[in-house]
Amino acid sequence: RAKSDGRNTARFFDPAMQAVAEHQAALERALHDALSTRQFVLFCQPQFSAAGQLVGAEVLVRWRRANGELLGPDAFIGLAESSGMIVPLGQYVLEESCRALARWRTDCTLGKLELAVNVSAQQLRNDDLASSMAGILRQTGAPAEKLCLELTESVFAENVAAVIERMHALCSLGVHFSLDDFGTGYSSLAYLKRFPLTALKIDRSFVHDVHLDADATSIVEAIIALAHKLKLDIVAEGVEHEAQRAFLVDSGCNTLQGYLLGRPMPMRDFERLYSGAGTGG
Ligand code: C2E
Ligand code: MG
Ligand code: MG
Ligand code: MG
Repeated sequence: RAKSDGRNTARFFDPAMQAVAEHQAALERALHDALSTRQFVLFCQPQFSAAGQLVGAEVLVRWRRANGELLGPDAFIGLAESSGMIVPLGQYVLEESCRALARWRTDCTLGKLELAVNVSAQQLRNDDLASSMAGILRQTGAPAEKLCLELTESVFAENVAAVIERMHALCSLGVHFSLDDFGTGYSSLAYLKRFPLTALKIDRSFVHDVHLDADATSIVEAIIALAHKLKLDIVAEGVEHEAQRAFLVDSGCNTLQGYLLGRPMPMRDFERLYSGAGTGG
């Protein structure tokens, strides 16, 4: 972002700033059309138990632009949030994920897996998520108990009572919740007991240094101890090195996800790789 030199008018004539604004406006127009032209693609990243068994996958959206460029969520989720597009986009991701779960039912490996889907605070706030979720489950025939909705701590900045009520409505459909990027946001420990959660995901910033830095080690050990006291599972994201994996497993982490174990890949590739594969080979 261009810095103002103190005169209010300066920024209107700053070509760099204007270029950024034009780029953002073009991106927002393109984002608007991307849903109807089916440019969003779902990637899956495998998740493994501490013992090394495939137990599920996280769904991560990508934007395949008309020019062939593949954009990661960091390039457009913010814009989708500010433009309100996140609600229909999130709905699309849920639909496609539930179609996959329904498709996988009869497969001896895929049929056992859980899918974790990121849900933004806005979806939980603006949309009647429970009734649209009920509709998606009915239409797709997906097994609800295999669907885990990942929330971030940003939902706790809102009307907490309303959030809890909506979460319970969704739980009564059979889906469950995990708390993503734990430790990076409004992590009021008091909230943890009030929200119907089944798991905490330790943010990858803590996992990154867990085998190197004494503070990161202590934080991760404390999070795992807290989670287990509250009868929550622990998922570690961003596991890149064997030393991190070994430490996390020794510390009692239940589920692991990261480049060491598997990269995000197009959902079709994930299905081909793991379908019917008794041992994942
Ligand atoms: P997240 O939910 O925390 O997802 C994990 C991110 O970490 C993913 O980035 C994944 O590719 C990346 N990652 C996984 N393993 C490793 C690793 O070993 N090392 C490193 N450095 N990174 C790893 P991605 O796909 O770029 O997604 C970024 C964020 O975008 C996600 O963070 C999530 O918050 C958001 N997002 C993705 N898909 C959706 C969606 O459908 N809806 C919403 N609302 N948000 C989404
Ligand atoms: Mg996530
Ligand atoms: Mg995460
Ligand atoms: Mg994260």
